[in-house]
Amino acid sequence: QATLGVLGGGQLGRMFVHAAQALGYRCVVLDPDAISPAGAVAEQHIQADYLDSFGLAQLARDCDAITTEFENVPALALETLAGMRTVAPAAASVAVCQDRAVEKAHFESAGVPCAPHAVITNDIELAAVDPALLPGILKTSRMGYDGKGQVRVSTAVELAAAWNDLKRVPCVLEQLLPLKAELSVLVARGADGQLVNYPVQQNLHRGGILSVTEVPAPAVPTDVQQQAVAAARQVAEALGYVGVLCIEFFWLHDGRLVVNEMAPRPHNSGHWTMNGASASQFELQVRALAGLPLPEPRQHSAAVMLNLLGDLWFSEEGGPTPPAWDRVLALPGTHLHLYGKAEARHGRKMGHLNITAATAEAAHLIALEAALILGLPTDF
Ligand code: ATP
Ligand code: MG
Ligand code: MG
Repeated sequence: QATLGVLGGGQLGRMFVHAAQALGYRCVVLDPDAISPAGAVAEQHIQADYLDSFGLAQLARDCDAITTEFENVPALALETLAGMRTVAPAAASVAVCQDRAVEKAHFESAGVPCAPHAVITNDIELAAVDPALLPGILKTSRMGYDGKGQVRVSTAVELAAAWNDLKRVPCVLEQLLPLKAELSVLVARGADGQLVNYPVQQNLHRGGILSVTEVPAPAVPTDVQQQAVAAARQVAEALGYVGVLCIEFFWLHDGRLVVNEMAPRPHNSGHWTMNGASASQFELQVRALAGLPLPEPRQHSAAVMLNLLGDLWFSEEGGPTPPAWDRVLALPGTHLHLYGKAEARHGRKMGHLNITAATAEAAHLIALEAALILGLPTDF
């Protein structure tokens, strides 16, 4: 029986493991924590740091092919493993995604426009920032996610103060763009170059965290969708990427489409594929890693995904108590996915609810009902 390895024990790893097991693979998860969502469901768990050479050697010994579920896994860990086993995505691809400055350079070289920006690594670059980039968002080049490591700034003085607050680590200042909608496109590419994609996903963020994804994208005309898909495929092709890749876009009020960032793995905005498509993004990651065929995935149902953050577990009377799932599950076409996290915390991703229906309108209405029951905002 072939064995697949995953670096990282979070929910993405858990859903990867479930998909791999369904296809007959054994799974090994390497994660520093004794208990993790993916470690709990894999056949084997190696508790080690990502750069622990003993842990990596054991992972390589026990696996036929290895992937990552964790965007900030040290690229060196993937490089080390690649000397011993099949690894996808490649360390070089992951390294591009881990640094916003390098990532933006890649977008530009692939001919895909991104937000006007400046790289800030020293006082000279700080002083040289074009005032036209303000108001803007200062983002740390590395390690940010869910809006962490980002500060909105309106003036050069605020910019300098924000950079100090961020400990003067390398940053990117991006112009604050007027967003009509946020979109993402998931592609999967095999080692043989076969490249497939899902339809465009429309994403609503709250407080820097993904809240709702709708597919088909309700507000986006066909030509913009085609542009997004073409751009995503171009970015993956230019990287020679292997595996599932998610590219996030901003659709602007003036109609332009610019790329925001990408994630070298299955993505929160693609969780709808678990119930709305012929193959989920996790299955495609397994297929790409294991060298199985990658037929074009087909969306068979309109879908809405509601993210379930830990906040839902804290009622007004105090907490933590799980929400009333029975009322939500009484609605037609609802699919609950919980990640098995021991403790609910504010802002922590605990699970998601997929809603599928025959039409986008029906899925939207049922999603609104579910949100109402759960006490989630209904402004989507
Ligand atoms: P993720 O968890 O998706 O990796 P992240 O922390 O890397 O998020 P970004 O995707 O860069 O952060 O930004 C988070 C959100 O902030 C975006 O989805 C968007 O809503 C808003 N945002 C980021 N950059 C801009 C911009 N240049 N103009 C307007 N809004 C922006
Ligand atoms: Mg990001
Ligand atoms: Mg993002």
